[in-house]
Amino acid sequence: MGPLPQRCEALVLHHINYGESDVILTLFTAQYGLQKGFAKAGRKSRKRFGAVLEPFTQAVFQWKKGRGAFLILQEAELVNSRFGLRGDLLRLALASYGVELVSLLLEEGESYQLIYELLCSFLDYLEQGGDELSARLLFELRLIYLLGYMPHLLHCSECLKIFDNELIRFDANRGGSLCLDCAGSAGIAVDLGTIGSLARSLKVAHRQFEGFSFGQKTLQQAGLILSQVLQQILPREPKSLKFLSQL
Ligand SMILES: [Zn+2]
Repeated sequence: MGPLPQRCEALVLHHINYGESDVILTLFTAQYGLQKGFAKAGRKSRKRFGAVLEPFTQAVFQWKKGRGAFLILQEAELVNSRFGLRGDLLRLALASYGVELVSLLLEEGESYQLIYELLCSFLDYLEQGGDELSARLLFELRLIYLLGYMPHLLHCSECLKIFDNELIRFDANRGGSLCLDCAGSAGIAVDLGTIGSLARSLKVAHRQFEGFSFGQKTLQQAGLILSQVLQQILPREPKSLKFLSQL
C-alpha cells in the first residue's frame, strides 16, 4: 500500500464531537479500509464540510496526513447524504447495525472494495424503502461470505455427504450444516429449503438487494444461522443489536 492520496471517496461510519467545534470521524474507504479523520472546526465550517460529517454519508474528502493515524480533513464534497434513513427508526437501527458490523469485522488486507460496495448498497436500499428484513439477511450473509467465514451449507460439514431432501441441523461451531447422523443433538434443526435459499442468494451480485423477499420461515431460520456464525467471529456483541432487537 503506497502513501495515501490527498483525495478519495469515503463513507462516514462514526462521528464524535471533540472539544468546542472539532469532529473526529471514522471513515471507510474502498481502497484503504477504515481510517480516522479529524475535521478541525468541523461543526462551524459549513463552507468546507457542508453536511458531510454525519454517519451514512458518502463524500469525497481532501486531506493532509496528520500525526499518528489521523487524516487531517481539509474539505469535502457531498456524494450522498442518505438523509432519508433518519426518518424511520427501524431503518436507522439497521443502518447502524450494518455500519457497526463492518467496523468490528473489517481487518487489514480484506477486499475492501467489495465490502464497501456491499455496505453502500445496503444503506441505499434501506433508504429507498426496500424490504428491511430481507435486506438484513442478505447483508449479513454476503458480509460473512466476503470476509471468508462462510460455513458449509449444502453438504454435511463433517462427513461431506450432499443433502437430498432430508432433515438437517446447523451448528456454526462444527463448521455449518450437519446430517442427522453426524449432528446428534448439536445445533438447531433447519430446513434444507432455507439452506438452499442462502446458497442461491450468494450467486447474485453482492450489490443487488432489489427483488428478494424471503418468507417468514426462511427469515427466522436464516436469522438463527447467521447470528450463530456472527457470534463466532465478532469480538463483542454489537451495541446496535441490542437496540435493534427492542424494535
Ligand atoms: Zn454427516
